[in-house]
Amino acid sequence: MLQQTAALCRIPSPTGFTHDAIDHVATELKRFGVPTQRTVKGALVAALPGGNPELGGRTLSAHVDTLGAMVKEIKEDGRLKLTRVGGYVWATIEGEYCTVHANGGTSEVSGTILTTKASAHVHGSDLAKLKRNERSIEVRLDEPVRNEGDVRALGIEVGDFVSFDPRTTITPSGFIKSRHLDDKACVAILLGVAQALLTHDVAPAAPAALFVSTFEEVGHGSSAGLPEGTTELIAVDMAAVGKGQTSDEFATTVCVKDSSGPYDFALSRRLIALARANDIDCRIDIYPDYASDVSQALRAGWDVRGGLVGPGVDASHSFERLHRTSLEETARLLLAYLMAPS
Ligand SMILES: [Zn+2]
Repeated sequence: MLQQTAALCRIPSPTGFTHDAIDHVATELKRFGVPTQRTVKGALVAALPGGNPELGGRTLSAHVDTLGAMVKEIKEDGRLKLTRVGGYVWATIEGEYCTVHANGGTSEVSGTILTTKASAHVHGSDLAKLKRNERSIEVRLDEPVRNEGDVRALGIEVGDFVSFDPRTTITPSGFIKSRHLDDKACVAILLGVAQALLTHDVAPAAPAALFVSTFEEVGHGSSAGLPEGTTELIAVDMAAVGKGQTSDEFATTVCVKDSSGPYDFALSRRLIALARANDIDCRIDIYPDYASDVSQALRAGWDVRGGLVGPGVDASHSFERLHRTSLEETARLLLAYLMAPS
């Protein structure tokens, strides 16, 4: 799962530009013998074999789309103005290397995200005082461009996707630090769970499916196309680590409430009881500024019971990090859930 997380993080997939990442997930599932389908909107659905059809369907969802940007404007001096894709603070992308997906997404031009006053020897204290926002953040392309025409000649247009260099690194101490652990770590967990069931030839208790959504970061990831028969939907998404939170990078978390409201009480209690019965390091937490695939499905009108489970990710939507034990603890809890008759 650690290696799979790294592989996924390295595939650019800002919301709206997720085809390569979805293809990768489909290919991986095919390797385990799991056929997949795409919803019209582009999400991936995979039914796992087995399960008593008299029990309601259990679907695990994770989102493969990430934060990113689009070219908003090509400036006269050849720099690019950005518009954000997904919710993040401008300061968290300053200094990052990036890729502009030019020529209709068929070629790539690299660059660096800087402020308009990046040179300390020219702008001095203005750099420290500068408010980071859509006006002060820009892209410097790694090509000899001096004006708008030079940029357009590279095949770059307004609306081109921009992905951020994830700088994915696995440390000897078992951490993975990378952009986009939200939520690629959880897509890797879903693949790990599927692989564990299939290689050990264990059937889930109830019909089980995976749903890999592609528009979560903009608020409508699982609003459509959930697998038929789904009665329980578990959003597998990062746990929010920080001051005042019980979640950490070494455990899994059952989130019982986020900013979209409480999750299903009975389902959450079942998950917590399964964690305790199986000696899984599981925290109970509340996320102050958060919504999930479950929130989006419920708002869209799906009649399902929703739960939220995930590994602790430090510095989310910023310079993210998690430890391999949180991947393991989350996968163990999901396996216990899928195998429990009730
Ligand atoms: Zn997420």
